[in-house]
Amino acid sequence: MGTLELDGVTKVFPDGDGEIVAVDDVDIEMRDGEFLVVVGPSGCGKSTTLRMVAGLETISSGEIRLAGQRVNEVKPQHRDIAMVFQSYALYPHMTVEENMAFGLEEPTDLSDGEIETRVADAAETMGIAELLDRKPADLSGGQRQRVALGRAIVRDPEVFLMDEPLSNLDAKLRSELRTELQRLQDELDVTTMYVTHDQTEAMTMGDRIAILNAGELQQVATPLECYHEPANRFVAGFIGDPSMNFFPVERDGETLVGDMFDYPLSGSTLDDVGDVTDLTLGVRPEDISLAGDSAGDHTFSTVVEVVEPMGDENTVYLRFADAPEGETFIATVGGLQQVSAGDEITVEIPEETIHLFDGTSGEAVHNREIDE
Ligand code: ATP
Repeated sequence: MGTLELDGVTKVFPDGDGEIVAVDDVDIEMRDGEFLVVVGPSGCGKSTTLRMVAGLETISSGEIRLAGQRVNEVKPQHRDIAMVFQSYALYPHMTVEENMAFGLEEPTDLSDGEIETRVADAAETMGIAELLDRKPADLSGGQRQRVALGRAIVRDPEVFLMDEPLSNLDAKLRSELRTELQRLQDELDVTTMYVTHDQTEAMTMGDRIAILNAGELQQVATPLECYHEPANRFVAGFIGDPSMNFFPVERDGETLVGDMFDYPLSGSTLDDVGDVTDLTLGVRPEDISLAGDSAGDHTFSTVVEVVEPMGDENTVYLRFADAPEGETFIATVGGLQQVSAGDEITVEIPEETIHLFDGTSGEAVHNREIDE
């Protein structure tokens, strides 16, 4: 059973006279066969977390359990884990076949024949069977990463750990291997912890996403939950591209008062807000719509500053009519909608699409409605 549990896991590095808390009291429970993507900005502790699970970094406090057993003191080679790195980490003087077999020779009692069969099967799975006699220098980047993945597969481990395995590849190869990794994970059903800073990988590959910021776990949830029901403002801003728009507002009775607009709230939203007065209003660019001539409580006069046509849609930089130039927010509208810089347009920010965050703690107090 490849369950993986992190229980209060913390890593403190010495830093001159002080210290850096790289990973701060992180709890994650992964079920057998789950694909968990760990994301967050540079320096948030993603790699350190993965390295502690691999046993390449000691744990300052907390416990890591693999298949229910504490592994804090277990050496890396005795943890039933295979790791794939961004840098491939292949031995240059060995052939592909030797590289793939290497991890099997020492710690296992497999016969030469069994090793050969396992390597051949993994090479078949990764589509590199015809490359077995080559050296890494004679392979493309994509082929090298296939070999590195093949080497992890032959080990038949309880857990795969992958640290940005696709980030050295060009966009097309990355998307190909992304699909292939998903297929592979489905097929092999091995518990996988996958570190990336790539939004698309996080949204498309994982059963769940774990979002870290400054060493602290912000949320562990499915990609769509993180997108539509963010636990806090950090998650809301991190997941989604272009990012959610945020406006600081004060609650005055039943109305949110911003620098440039008033936004009346209805009963159910007010109930969620409770007695918090200092708030941040969040709205995703795709939820802002062109309102034409219609006017309502949630329509606003704006000026178009810049339009970035993407073909299928336009990314439109707007500012409220009275706002200073450059103080923009983003709406995405259909590619066939005619919008040009300098236009004065009315937009709607529908109440059912807004998010509200506590202005001090950043915690979500109200998330958008989702049609079930
Ligand atoms: P990136 O996406 O840039 O790779 P990351 O999220 O993987 O970043 P980590 O590499 O885990 O982040 O680093 C987390 C923090 O710990 C950073 O502040 C980093 O500088 C610090 N750190 C990492 N390794 C060490 C070390 N060996 N000694 C001291 N500090 C370290």
